[in-house]
Amino acid sequence: MSRNLSEFSKKNYDLLVIGGGINGAAIANIAAGRGLSVALLEKGDFGSGTSSKSSKLIHGGIRYLENFEFDLVFESLRERALQLQCAPHLVKPLRFIIPVYKGDKRPLWMMRLGVFLYDRIAGRYRIGRHQSLSREELMRLEPGLKREGLKGGVMYFDAQMDDARLCLENVLSAAEKGAQVANYAEVFSFIKAGGKAAGVKVRDRFSGEEFEMRAKRILCAAGPWTNQLVRMDDAQAEKKVRTTKGIHLVCAAKISDHALLIPSRRDNRIFFVLPWQGGSMIGTTDTDYVGNPDRVDVRRDDMNYLIEETRRVFPSLSLGETDIASAFAGLRPLVRLYGAPSKIPRKHYLFETKSGILFVIGGKYTTYRKIAEDCVNKITAPRRERTYAIFGSGEAAGDPAAVSREYGLDEEIICALREKYGAQYPRILALTKGNPKLKERIVPFLPIIKAQIVYSAAVEMAVTADDIFLRRLSLGYSPKRTEDMEKSFRKAIAEVCPSIKQRGEDYA
Ligand SMILES: Cc1cc2nc3c(=O)[nH]c(=O)nc-3n(C[C@H](O)[C@H](O)[C@H](O)COP(=O)(O)OP(=O)(O)OC[C@H]3O[C@@H](n4cnc5c(N)ncnc54)[C@H](O)[C@@H]3O)c2cc1C
Repeated sequence: MSRNLSEFSKKNYDLLVIGGGINGAAIANIAAGRGLSVALLEKGDFGSGTSSKSSKLIHGGIRYLENFEFDLVFESLRERALQLQCAPHLVKPLRFIIPVYKGDKRPLWMMRLGVFLYDRIAGRYRIGRHQSLSREELMRLEPGLKREGLKGGVMYFDAQMDDARLCLENVLSAAEKGAQVANYAEVFSFIKAGGKAAGVKVRDRFSGEEFEMRAKRILCAAGPWTNQLVRMDDAQAEKKVRTTKGIHLVCAAKISDHALLIPSRRDNRIFFVLPWQGGSMIGTTDTDYVGNPDRVDVRRDDMNYLIEETRRVFPSLSLGETDIASAFAGLRPLVRLYGAPSKIPRKHYLFETKSGILFVIGGKYTTYRKIAEDCVNKITAPRRERTYAIFGSGEAAGDPAAVSREYGLDEEIICALREKYGAQYPRILALTKGNPKLKERIVPFLPIIKAQIVYSAAVEMAVTADDIFLRRLSLGYSPKRTEDMEKSFRKAIAEVCPSIKQRGEDYA
């Protein structure tokens, strides 16, 4: 797949999508599937914005029950079922526990009612049955929890995903259906004809070359950058998005076997401690952010908040900064309303400017398919998609043990390839035929082989070493990330893909 922007400028597209996060990617996927000619432009790498900085949950959002957002919870639970079905390699069911302590703002009866309602709303989309847990049961399931003041708890189900890859697989699926997609292609101006938007000016962020592109409809799915594009269209326009920052901490050690949803003592918000790639992920915060979205970062007070709250519930761990392998910050592109950030509805919202540009804002990762469907239904004859597919959808063929023997690779590697690429995994194996060097592991403790680097560049449109390391191989927020491990990967990338650009973005 090529990102040749001069080719893009030869056509007048039915739809031009700005922003290659999950929403833009899915819009391009659905629109291309309906036969529209589509272009998708992303100024960084696909998914490098909010769509790789989420809590990585495909969830109904049990906490939205408190805000009486029942329709959003139902929509999210229905979408959760669809994602579990269409992307089983990237979206997995996850068991959650909510421990309740004496003095918590939400008492045990309320939590019991919450999980009961959650399952009732899910109906046939339920993953597994909720359960009430006694204090003893809780201590047996999570022995690290503070015993003192523990009243009991509840268990329920949601799902966990790989956000960056889910986004990428939507982009690749769109491209497979004929959409022209490009990363590192920044829109810097709108072209107008008679007051109406007729196209954009775009800059290749590597060569610096500028191009003009024409389209009948333009749709901005720019997440936290929406206000910039709104003002690019009309310098006097009001801001539309309120950005709130959320950070996550990745711990090398495993804090808990289950996902935990914990009410914080400091501000009564809810945060998660999640099992993550053999370690744990703690998140998130929710504070207003007014700076440049390109420069959002993790601050010491954000970290302290999560460390202190986790230490309160897991006192024996004496968690400290040295236990944190990495941290990352993202921005929620919320509809611009006043009030506490956690109380702002997560429903998406579409609007059109005087010049005819469509914008989509708000929403959750979980509901991305529905958001995209609503957007495409604004542009072409409305239709409800009954099924959904991304690049790796479908059956991952072959018995892992037999495939392992056929290719002379560890079964652990075959299983890991199936988990990452779904039905596409034989394409990585095919690269190793005739080139046994590509079967080599990059570091001995991870089931990742050199063929995956070649595949990232040849098929998955990786342009820089960061694109491969952070998002294609999902190592950006790995609990096993160390300087030495990263060096080994960069060396392997330079060895098997010498043309790849070493320059990347700055990450927390
Ligand atoms: C901390 C945090 C945790 C979250 N956790 C969850 C969760 O667990 N589950 C859930 O369902 N939701 C979650 N969300 C919400 C979810 O992540 C977002 O709703 C979703 O990722 C937004 O996607 P997007 O495509 O709108 O934005 P983005 O992913 O930010 O994509 C917008 C893209 O537009 C590009 N762009 C901007 N300007 C231009 C330009 N001029 N030219 C070209 N491209 C441009 C940007 O580079 C960016 O990649 C979380 C959000 C945060 C911040």
